[in-house]
Amino acid sequence: MAILPICVVPESVLRQKSKKVKLIDGSIQRLIGNMLETMHAISGVGLAAPQVGTLLRVIVVGIPGEEDIVLINPEIVRRKGERLVNEGCLSVPGYFGEVKRAESVRVKGRDLNGKEIRIKASELLAQALEHEIDHLNGVLYIDRLESADKLHKIEPEIAQL
Ligand SMILES: [Zn+2]
Repeated sequence: MAILPICVVPESVLRQKSKKVKLIDGSIQRLIGNMLETMHAISGVGLAAPQVGTLLRVIVVGIPGEEDIVLINPEIVRRKGERLVNEGCLSVPGYFGEVKRAESVRVKGRDLNGKEIRIKASELLAQALEHEIDHLNGVLYIDRLESADKLHKIEPEIAQL
């Protein structure tokens, strides 16, 4: 496995729509292994294939303390509620912003063996799933800001209390 470089704005791969995976073969399994390794290496909570330059509908999510989730061809089948959250993205380094996300989502997709899985998620997992599935459609959280002043620079010199 390998740690892959992360594509950052304004790379055009981040703005394209990813294709559905038709066959889960060795190359897809390798891609997923590399995505998981990369996500852990940079302490990300989630990663979508376009962020590592591959336009395929594959995402991984790793909530700290929970088992990693791999989803192939994920789809949001239901969104419920609305809340404001602070969000950042590995592909938009140095910034975070306030966006509206669902309170809970239901997502379906396939696992590494091609088996259909359904996930009911809330809180950070729901946010991560919405964020990563957005990537598959070429959408970034900065597109969802209500206004430009909702985007902030991360300033490491400010105390984190
Ligand atoms: Zn992102």
